Amino acid sequence: MATKTYCEMISRSQPGPGDGGNTGSWRVKRPIIDYDKCIPAKTKKRACFTCWLLCPDCVVSKTIPPAINLDYCKGCGICAEECPAGAIEMVDEASQTGKEK
Ligand code: SF4
Ligand code: SF4
Repeated sequence: MATKTYCEMISRSQPGPGDGGNTGSWRVKRPIIDYDKCIPAKTKKRACFTCWLLCPDCVVSKTIPPAINLDYCKGCGICAEECPAGAIEMVDEASQTGKEK
């Protein structure tokens, strides 16, 4: 039997198309990870991942470095608020126009 991930074991939304899925164009702010501050990115160790754990949409990968799937990120800012290293900044979506989502 395959091992389930945290996001598969609990009743929370999964990233994907459909209701509560693809964010579309309404997000006001998006999170940007500063990999110079991010703990697993800096140490190359599987540590922290608070953003992965607390994201209500499960759109942060538990990888080194962690990555945010902006197709489904709702811009709630929880990850930025809870990051112990202050590595995530919420930036205006409008300032990112023309950049890769
Ligand atoms: S919470 Fe912050 S330091 Fe921890 S993995 Fe996420 S971005 Fe990196
Ligand atoms: S802003 Fe919210 S939805 Fe987007 S990655 Fe952070 S916690 Fe998840």
